[in-house]
This record gives sequence, structure tokens and C-alpha cells, in this order.
Amino acid sequence: MSNSAAENGVVILGSGLGGYTLARELRKLDAGIAITIVTADGGESYSKPMLSAAFAQGKAPSSLVQKSAEQMAADLKATILVRHRVAAIRRDARKVVVRRPDGGEVELGYGRLVLAIGADPRPYWVEGCEDAEIRTVNDLDDYTAWRAALKPGGRVLLVGAGLIGSEFANDLAGSGHHVTVVDPAPWPLGRLLPQALGEEMARALGDAGITFHLGRSVAYWNKGRAALDDATMIHYDQALSAIGLVPRTRLAFEAGLKVERGITVDRFLRTSDPDIFAIGDCAETPAGPLPFVLPLMAEAKALAATLAGTETALKLPALPVVVKTPALPMVVCPPAPGAAGEWVIEGEGRDRKALFIAPDGKALGFALSGARAGERQALAREMPDLL
Ligand SMILES: Cc1cc2nc3c(=O)[nH]c(=O)nc-3n(C[C@H](O)[C@H](O)[C@H](O)COP(=O)(O)OP(=O)(O)OC[C@H]3O[C@@H](n4cnc5c(N)ncnc54)[C@H](O)[C@@H]3O)c2cc1C
Repeated sequence: MSNSAAENGVVILGSGLGGYTLARELRKLDAGIAITIVTADGGESYSKPMLSAAFAQGKAPSSLVQKSAEQMAADLKATILVRHRVAAIRRDARKVVVRRPDGGEVELGYGRLVLAIGADPRPYWVEGCEDAEIRTVNDLDDYTAWRAALKPGGRVLLVGAGLIGSEFANDLAGSGHHVTVVDPAPWPLGRLLPQALGEEMARALGDAGITFHLGRSVAYWNKGRAALDDATMIHYDQALSAIGLVPRTRLAFEAGLKVERGITVDRFLRTSDPDIFAIGDCAETPAGPLPFVLPLMAEAKALAATLAGTETALKLPALPVVVKTPALPMVVCPPAPGAAGEWVIEGEGRDRKALFIAPDGKALGFALSGARAGERQALAREMPDLL
């Protein structure tokens, strides 16, 4: 591994949508800058959101790969080290300690360092779960293993009815599986939707064949069986946990960088070290953690400009998220966490518009379902900017 190219150049940790979008934007602005990407995975370019929508579309995991790491390296004129995990950041020496696939370690110098290392599945622990083979799907490797483990037409027990859990449930039911979902919340997407739209989502997913146990948790697991806290026993072939993600902050924390809910960055995506930046799911921007694709793209564009020599602050309009549940099209643009206000709902049945209205009458967020989902762009323009 040559150190000289990296020393004055940009080293990006992570080859997800964050790392690769940044590299692409930076290369557009600067043909000569040395870019090195170090990634713990295989470095394939793929669209992560497809992981919860591919099955019912008949797509095999391998067909989700848009480009191999070699193709990406050629396109980006970058060095890409795949299956290399960064174990530590040595800020004093401006180096990262990289663990090679063979177990050896090398140091790699950086001029500027960008952390685009994503988030981990939230740990789940309930009595008996160690032997229950509860999987999580947060990247292409997980997804490939999950698809290989699934039995055609098998019984899947899914823990978590949030955005990603609901999408997986719909996708699995749409590909012939018998899906049961357990969540302590009273309706799906409980943190994003008001009750009326959440109940409509539960009805639509129920009509698609999914069984819900809402307001319930698993009390204990016992290989192929899970007992709920109301004593219902659920028999399953495969279990999946989708209870949320936690930004990967350990590397930054151990290097002495400021960390709160994510790696803290300012509007320039700069951490508490002026030569280290963070974007995507691992970062906490001044608008909070924003673990979605559209904010990540805006972050990558702004940071590329800064790294190419023009200091550029992140600006973020309201960015609605399309929920990939064909059973009931849904778009959410939630208000900032803790915002004061209440939901006002228009429409009937599947086709509804919900506005989150502040005490001063201003709309701060929205949710749209069914035929109303098409109103998202016009409505997004009326919402306050995130940053
Ligand atoms: C199933 C699913 C569906 C989703 N659907 C949507 C959607 O419809 N719309 C939407 O907006 N968002 C969606 N999201 C969220 C969106 O996909 C993420 O916000 C985005 O992909 C995060 O990209 P990232 O680059 O920050 O992180 P990741 O894609 O997680 O990439 C992190 C990278 O860092 C590498 N890495 C980690 N640690 C190290 C280390 N120590 N050393 C070296 N490399 C390391 C990893 O190998 C990986 O390459 C979805 C997420 C999931 C899981």
C-alpha cells in the first residue's frame, strides 16, 4: 500500500452511498486530487434502499450490484481497498490504522479524512435470542445471507414495524412468505405517522397477508418459537430484527472527536478536528442525524466543494421520504423531533393528507398516503428548511 498518494489527498472511509457519492462529486470538481477509499465490505456500488424492495420485484442479490469495486476505482480514478477495516485514527500522525483481510495491519496517511462509515443495527436482546438466529439486514452481505437462508413460502417473524420493518414485511409478503410483525408501538411507522395514517397502513399491510401483533413484544425466544408478552406463541422459520440503526461512532470517539447521537459535524460537515469530516448515517449534522439518501447526497455535494477548495455550507430543504410499501403508497416528511404542534388530517380511507401544524399555524411536516402521495413535491416546498 503506497502511502505517498494518500498523504496529501483525501481518504474516505466507507463505500456506501455516502462515500461513493462524495468521491464522484469530488472527482467532478478536481481531476487530479488523490482519492483513497478504504472499506470494510466488498466495495460494490449498490442502492441500499433496494434491499427492502428487491424480492417482490424478482431481483436476486447479485443483480443489485451496479458496479464492482474495480469498475468504481477505474471510474473514480481512485484507489479502493476492499475488505480493509480501519481500526483506529491516529490524529497526531495524520494516519489511519488499517486491518488488512489477512489480519495484518498497515498505516495509511491522509491529508483530509472523511468518515462515511454508516450505522449499525440497534442491538436486540431478549431472553433466548442468542440461539434464535435473529438476522439483521443492513448491507449487501447481510442481504445475500438473508436471502440464502429464506425458505420459499416460509414463516418469517419480523421484529419492528418502523419504516424499514414495514418495507421488508411488504416485500416478503409480496414474494410469498407468511409474515408476522411484532412491535410495541400501537401502529406501524409509529414515530413518523399520525394514528389515522398508521392504522390505514396496518390495514393495507394486513390485506397483503401480514399478521400484526402491535402493542406487543417478544418475551422470550426458543428456537423456532417466540412467546409474546400476552402469551401468544409464534412459530417461525426465519426471524429478522428491524428495530433501527445506531450511528457508528466508536472510531471517532476513540480518536477524541466530539460525538453525541452521531459523529458531531458543523454545517461544513467538519468534525471537531478541522481535517476530519463525516457524512451519511454516521454523522450528526446541526439538524440532527439524517439517515436517508437525499440528505446524504446534499452533504456529499457540499463537502466535495469544500474539499476542492470552496468552503461550502450544507443547505437542506425539507426532504420527504417515500416509504416503499406497495400495499399503501406513503410519503413522510416528519417535523423535527420534539417540535410542538398537532396533526390535522384531510381525506378518507387510503387517500389522506396529514399536516403537522405548529401553535403559530405554520406547517412543520406532513404525511401523505394513497393517491395523495403525488402531492409531495409541492407540499415539501411549503415546509421549513432543515438547514
Ligand atoms: C433496508 C434499507 C432500506 C432503506 N430505504 C431507504 C429509502 O427508501 N430512502 C432513503 O432515503 N433511505 C433509505 N435507507 C437509508 C439509506 O439507505 C442510508 O441512509 C444510506 O444508504 C447510508 O449510506 P452511508 O454511506 O452513510 O452508510 P453505509 O451504506 O452503511 O456505508 C457504510 C460504509 O462504511 C464501511 N465501514 C464501516 N466501518 C468501517 C471501518 N471501520 N473501516 C472501513 N470501512 C468501514 C462499510 O463497509 C460501508 O461501506 C434504507 C436503509 C436500509 C437499511
